[in-house]
Order: sequence, then structure tokens, then C-alpha cells
Amino acid sequence: MAEIFFDKDADLTLLQEKTIGIIGYGNQGRAQALNLKDSGLKVIVGNQEDEYAAAARQDGFQVLAVSAAVAQADVLLLLVPDEILPSLFAHEIKPHLTQGKTLVFASGYNVYYRQIEPPPYVDVVMIAPRMIGTGVREGYLNGKGFPSLIAVDHDHSGQALSITLAVAKGIGSTRGGAFMSSFAEETICDLFNEHFGYLYALRRAYDVLREAGCSPESILLEFYASGEEMELARAHYEIGLWHQLPLHSHTSQYGQEVTSRLSPAEEEQERARLRRVVENITSGQFAKDWALEQQAGNPVWKRLRAQNLEHPMIVEERKLYRRLGRIAPE
Ligand code: NDP
Repeated sequence: MAEIFFDKDADLTLLQEKTIGIIGYGNQGRAQALNLKDSGLKVIVGNQEDEYAAAARQDGFQVLAVSAAVAQADVLLLLVPDEILPSLFAHEIKPHLTQGKTLVFASGYNVYYRQIEPPPYVDVVMIAPRMIGTGVREGYLNGKGFPSLIAVDHDHSGQALSITLAVAKGIGSTRGGAFMSSFAEETICDLFNEHFGYLYALRRAYDVLREAGCSPESILLEFYASGEEMELARAHYEIGLWHQLPLHSHTSQYGQEVTSRLSPAEEEQERARLRRVVENITSGQFAKDWALEQQAGNPVWKRLRAQNLEHPMIVEERKLYRRLGRIAPE
């Protein structure tokens, strides 16, 4: 059972004499920086001079070049996109790391895949929010916090877990629960959730319902365009995936629980497919493919995005959203 840490388990005073450097002021960077500042801690921001730096200054932070922020801060929250971090780390972070600093990653990716190998004289930890940046800020402000997965990969100081918990408290995560995990587990679960095929499953279902003569509008409203999905997601969160079933009609519950089951053979086939999804992650094949794709300028991704936006389901979705006034007319 994963250990969960709450506010009472974390000591903010550990950070009182330290400077926290936020590297990157995007989705997570801005939210975590503001939360830490509101927790009474000393926060500086490292970013190149552009609109992100301007936003940080506007929010009252001292903004330095990344290398200068790394040199000045004791605890570094690495909050730039995962695919950018290895090169930024090599050129602007690693050369300025000195003994006793703490590197806080927001995802397990680069350490799990060894795309970044920090020096042995720093602590290497992870606080991976299970929440988008706006939710990180909102959870702090409304006092509910948000959950995150935490991990210690390298404990040079002997205090790495305590520092991790203090930072997690400062950003508001021990209010929602900081769950002990590992860089590997975070990466596998996160990538699996993205790779198992939700978008394509919905689109396949759309195609089949169109073949059955259903209108695009009825299908889209049924799947997600009505907003009912938001209410369902809330019920999953508040009541639980199975325990929220009584909110639905008996016909719906019977259909979801009994009729939708796969045959034993189909079930085995689907499990085998999902195991291949895991294998693609744990073997390193995904990271290799993604790195090669980026080096080539993302040709496959760009082609698929263009094709996918032209799929009838998405074309009909745009038309519906225009008619409902959700997006601007063409
Ligand atoms: P963003 O895309 O919002 O990061 C933007 C920031 O990265 C800006 O400050 C930008 O500044 C900087 N940046 C982008 N490109 C470069 C570059 N080439 N060199 C230097 N800085 C650059 O990132 P997120 O907040 O989405 O993600 C940050 C981390 O948080 C990642 O590890 C991610 O996995 C993790 N995470 C994200 C979640 C989310 O909901 N977004 C949820 C949980 C974890 P500039 O362009 O000026 O350089």
C-alpha cells in the first residue's frame, strides 16, 4: 500500500533558509511559484527573456537567466517541458550545480529513461502533481490542495525526503496527499494513461454508430459534447468509479455492468494488447521513437494531426460547436 503524506508529516521550516528556484514559468511553473511564495518562502524564477519572464515579473518575482537561478537557488524545481529539459540541463543547469542542492523533477520521464544523469552530489527527487497547473493554483487557494506522486531517486543530503515533503507542503500538495512512488512508476502510469487508446476508441465508436445511421450530433452529445462527462468525472472523483453507478438508470447500470463485458477470448486479447502498451514503455521503445521523431521535426505526428483534424467526427464536432456558439464562426 502506497504511503500517503499529509500536512502534518511535512515541515516547512526546513526551507526557511533556502532559496527556491523555479526553472520555467509555464503551466506548472507559475502555479507552483505563486503557491510557494504564498507559503512564505523565498522564490526566484529562471527563464529566458520573453513573455514568460515578463509574466513572472508581473507576478512579483525576481527573474534571472536559468544558469544564474541555478547558481543562486538551493532547491530547483525543473518545470520546463520534458522534451526540452535534457538539453537545458546539460547546458544551463548541470554546470552550475554545487554540492547539497536539490533537484525536484515534476515527472519521472527523464530520470527513468536516463536522458538526464544528475551528478552524485545533489539530491534528486520528484513531486509530480496529478493536476494541471490551473488546478494546482486553485487547489492551493481553496484549501483543498491536490494529490501528487513523490519519490526520492538519490539522497545525498540524508534529508531528501524531508525536503521533498516540505516543498510538497509549500505547493499545497500535502493538503491533497503526497503519495510515495518512484520515477519508474510515475512514468509507466502516466504514459500508459496516454497510450492505451482512449481517443481512437471513441472515434472508432463514432464511425460504427454513423454506420448504424445515428446523427453526428446525437453521437457527439452522447460521448462528450453535452458536458455530462464532466459531471460523470466529478462523480468518479467524489463517489468512486463503481459506487457512482446508482446515479444512473437501472437500464444504464445493467448495460454498463453486464452487457458491456467482453467475452473471455476478447478479454484475453485486450489484456494482451494492454501488456504490449506497457512493454513499449518499459522497454524504452517509446522514448526512442519519440526522441527520433523530435530529431526529424515531428513528421509522423504532424501528418497524423492533420489527418485527425479532418476526420468526419472532428469536422462534425467543429460544426456543432459553432452552432452552439462555443467557438467563433468560420
Ligand atoms: P510548460 O510547457 O507550461 O512550460 C513552459 C515553460 O518552459 C516556460 O517557462 C518556457 O519558457 C519554458 N521553456 C519552453 N521551451 C524552453 C526551452 N527550449 N528552453 C528553456 N525553457 C523553455 O510545461 P508544463 O508546466 O506543462 O510542464 C512542466 C513539467 O511539469 C513537466 O515535467 C511536466 O511533465 C510536468 N507536469 C505537467 C503537468 C501539466 O498539467 N502541465 C501535470 C503534471 C506534471 P520559454 O519558452 O520562455 O523558454
